[in-house]
Amino acid sequence: MPFWNKKIETLPRDELEELQVKRLKDTVARCRKSRFYRKRLKDVDESLFTSPMDVSIIPFTTKDDLRANYDFGLVTVPKEEIVRMHSSSGTTGKATVIFHTRKDIETWSELVARCIVMTGACKTDVFQNIISYGMFTGGLGLHYGAEKVGMLIIPSGVGNTKRQIQLMKDFNTTVFHATPSYILYVSDVMVHEGLDPKEFDLRIGFVGAEPHSEQTRQRIEDIYDISVFNSYGMSELNGPGVAFECEEKSGMHLWEDSYLLEVVDPNTGEALAPGEEGELVVTTLSREAMPLLRYRTGDLARIIDDGDKCSCGRRHVRISRIKGRCDDMLIVKGVNLYPSQIEDVLMRFPEVATNYQIILERVSSLDSLTVRVELYPKMFNGDLRKLKKLEVDITKSIQDEIAVRPRIEFLEPGSLPRSEGKAVRVVDTRGEI
Ligand code: ADP
Ligand code: ZN
Repeated sequence: MPFWNKKIETLPRDELEELQVKRLKDTVARCRKSRFYRKRLKDVDESLFTSPMDVSIIPFTTKDDLRANYDFGLVTVPKEEIVRMHSSSGTTGKATVIFHTRKDIETWSELVARCIVMTGACKTDVFQNIISYGMFTGGLGLHYGAEKVGMLIIPSGVGNTKRQIQLMKDFNTTVFHATPSYILYVSDVMVHEGLDPKEFDLRIGFVGAEPHSEQTRQRIEDIYDISVFNSYGMSELNGPGVAFECEEKSGMHLWEDSYLLEVVDPNTGEALAPGEEGELVVTTLSREAMPLLRYRTGDLARIIDDGDKCSCGRRHVRISRIKGRCDDMLIVKGVNLYPSQIEDVLMRFPEVATNYQIILERVSSLDSLTVRVELYPKMFNGDLRKLKKLEVDITKSIQDEIAVRPRIEFLEPGSLPRSEGKAVRVVDTRGEI
């Protein structure tokens, strides 16, 4: 089984924790150089730290802290040492900015290289990076990692779908990186053009940047006849390269030599036991320009609690698929649910095509949930009984999953809006008058 950095990836737990404590102390000391943390850390004495979990005496850092200290408030190095700025996508409000030194870019690329090699992709692959370049971290993040591995990179960015397909065909792309929603759309366009997605040379796909279900992964694997790996990251923690699946696909390994992970109750901030689902809180352990202590990611997941026994041999902790952001939770008729739960049900039906939308309205002061579902064209052949049965089956399966009865609306493929970046799945008009 291939490794990029076997020594660090298979480091025994006690040595990994020893390294974490050392790096944590260094990080806290470095943080004092920033305007923001100097005040925050007044009462913290890191020299007393003996275990990674001693981090818990430090206050959390939030997205609002980053926004309030926009521009250089959290930077710990002189400006001339900064070589790159990135930004979040601004999905939940004002975008935040992050800075990197040359060494930060080097460390980040090393982490991404580990992820790439962990999936079985290698130097001889042709890698098409079908994701936005620029301030968004997905493009340059994977690009630098892939370059380190030595792959032939096609930095095609996002959009211009027909050209993406042409490039795949002409240059025999074997590995891609994309959002799951966009790569499904690419397959629709292939089929529309009379091409079979399975006939390309593709063998591996990296998908991330937005929540998606296990069923969606399998759908992409089936459509293209490839192996698909989940990639998790966020600009505040570099971008991609924070956690990634290995060939076992039983959770994403989070690189613990660079990230110290806690899982907390999103409402109280209390620590949760391994295996319990909560908000991921991460401390960076190897960042120079802009280290973050106990950063509230806003993302919900759990630690895969079977020790460090992944059969790939890596000892770094694994996290589950991300269920969504804490803010993605919808309250419908008093019930809490996540869009990814609905997606998981939909993608189990082979008749359901690649796009859907969730509509929430208030009708006569009651919540109403409609799921608009694109079906494959073969379903619109005049057999109304078949359609009715499918509607009943989907309604029941969703109700079983989320305990709310949805209204189902069937549409032809291509009816719903497509986004080239992060898909917008929910339209909620309940707050509007
Ligand atoms: P923004 O938070 O503004 O969208 P980013 O572009 O940095 O900024 O995106 C990071 C966020 O994208 C994460 O916090 C998470 O919510 C989501 N995300 C990234 N990768 C995944 C993934 N593999 N699964 C689910 N969500 C993901
Ligand atoms: Zn593994």
